[in-house]
Amino acid sequence: MEDRRIFSLLNIILFCMPALNARIHHPVTVDTVLFDPKKGVEILEASNFTEVVFNSKFNRVVVFYQATCGTCKKFAPVFQKLSDYCKEWDQLVKFSSVACSNIKNKPICQRFGIVRVPTLLFFHKDFSGKEKPIDIQSGKDVMLGNIARSLANYYQRKQDSLSDWPNLLPLKNDEFRNECKKHPKMFIIITNDQSEKRVGPLAVLNSVKMKNAHVRWMHDYDAQFLKFENHPSLLQTNTDCTETTLLSSKQRNDFNKLIADKVDYKTDNLFAPIDGKIIMEPSKKPVIGKPIIPNGLHEQDLESSLYHTLWQEISRLKHLNASSLNIAKRYIKSLMYVPYRKQVLKFLGEIDSELSEYSTISTDHFTQILEKNLHSKSYVPKRIVWAGCSGSKPEFRGYPCSLWMTFHAMTIGGLNKTDVAQIVRNIRDYVVNFFSCTKCAQNFEKETADLDKSIGKTDKDAVLYLWRIHNHVNERLSKEKDSLVDPRHPKLQFPGKTLCKECRIDDNADTFKEDVVFNFLQDFYGEVISNRASINYGKATNNKASFNTAWFTNILGVIVLLFLTNL
Ligand SMILES: Cc1cc2nc3c(=O)[nH]c(=O)nc-3n(C[C@H](O)[C@H](O)[C@H](O)COP(=O)(O)OP(=O)(O)OC[C@H]3O[C@@H](n4cnc5c(N)ncnc54)[C@H](O)[C@@H]3O)c2cc1C
Repeated sequence: MEDRRIFSLLNIILFCMPALNARIHHPVTVDTVLFDPKKGVEILEASNFTEVVFNSKFNRVVVFYQATCGTCKKFAPVFQKLSDYCKEWDQLVKFSSVACSNIKNKPICQRFGIVRVPTLLFFHKDFSGKEKPIDIQSGKDVMLGNIARSLANYYQRKQDSLSDWPNLLPLKNDEFRNECKKHPKMFIIITNDQSEKRVGPLAVLNSVKMKNAHVRWMHDYDAQFLKFENHPSLLQTNTDCTETTLLSSKQRNDFNKLIADKVDYKTDNLFAPIDGKIIMEPSKKPVIGKPIIPNGLHEQDLESSLYHTLWQEISRLKHLNASSLNIAKRYIKSLMYVPYRKQVLKFLGEIDSELSEYSTISTDHFTQILEKNLHSKSYVPKRIVWAGCSGSKPEFRGYPCSLWMTFHAMTIGGLNKTDVAQIVRNIRDYVVNFFSCTKCAQNFEKETADLDKSIGKTDKDAVLYLWRIHNHVNERLSKEKDSLVDPRHPKLQFPGKTLCKECRIDDNADTFKEDVVFNFLQDFYGEVISNRASINYGKATNNKASFNTAWFTNILGVIVLLFLTNL
């Protein structure tokens, strides 16, 4: 009897192990916000945006982003660095972020017409909502300069009411003597108007907290009476303003450090490089040795992708006109060939039939339709959790990976049921019109320009067409230095040798036997790995084998238990 109880206990533990295993090793990425407010980038939401940003004490640079967009993930550390660079002038400007991927923030993202992400907007301190914020391009070499210029423009308009601001405007030839008398031993940066437009304002902004340093900048044509040869140059006047000393005409990004040393100003903050270029340290290598998730079509990736597509990607537009609603409807019809759970398929069926009543629709109404059709028998989990598509760092993989998986699953799911070439057309139209990665959408449009000519006649041809296009993108990205490739998932031709040796004509070349590839794709995209079931995440094993082994152990345990209780 005692033995039996011990065995029952053992069996319960054994039975629960797969669930425990999945919990302990769940190597998934949850996308919510890309910034840590402790590091200085505020997180704003629709609920507090107006209160914080409108008629504020501070100017603000706000990045609007989607947490799942690869470009945004790549941009997040750059924006963080931008905010770090500007810490010396944080009494003038704050850096903030709004996750447009959070459904609650939709009203504010729509209000400012955010269609492409990341978008950077500058709100001056007395922004009241009647005017338009200033669009600041997100290039690494232009952001700092554009922020300095926006601040300088604002200063020019409002200088009478900005007594606590440094003077960001150029010092004129005829103002020099008076200014110098008021501020003997002042620092002057001489700049060339053509190539160094933002050097002066940035150098002045960097010195805003240095109480003992008065810093101004001059155009070289206005400063001919001063001694300098190159620009930009850093000069300092003497006490009676009769002489200037050249402090430096090299290493412009060290000018502020030099000024700080002269006036004995100490800070742990960085000075913004006055050439305006943001320099990123090479990214750290990803942690090696994390559990490997089986390669394949994961239920969690498919559902997270679908949630992002419907609630975030399509819904970020304000209105779906006849053409975009038609594209969305066709895409939703094609999604019904993905091997989703039956509740998800029911949900798609319900929204498909409801949308058929409309020829145009506001996205608020579109979202209402989505929400209305969520119930116990028809749903999409409203969360983003990556499984097979999780990257070694948050900026890698995620949504674009899950989108490709969804596309291939659609074409395989459509075999013998519908015209697969039409599915591929629907995919192309969705990407071109809705995919939030602008660069990807443009490249994809070019790469599929010959779709009608090259897609072939049969459904098999259409499946292989999409496979070829994806491999073409893989090849292009493998050559692009700046692409966002996870080093743990290098861009190789698919399927790799370990996944399907027989798919290749030659082991040492990327030449394929297309018939074998077609069969392989049907297997690979025909079966879903359910993350609710037990998957041995600890080893890169065949997922089906690990699934079966775990549950086989449990079932065996139950049989033995029944046998023992009958003894
Ligand atoms: C339409 C589209 C266009 C894109 N364009 C760009 C771009 O221009 N620039 C850019 O930087 N990024 C682009 N991306 C993102 C890029 O393609 C990858 O999605 C991203 O780099 C993540 O790569 P990944 O390692 O997760 O593998 P992905 O390429 O996303 O693939 C996901 C999974 O699909 C399987 N797979 C890989 N190749 C094939 C294939 N040929 N056939 C079938 N299955 C395959 C593998 O299991 C892989 O893990 C695009 C994404 C999409 C959806």
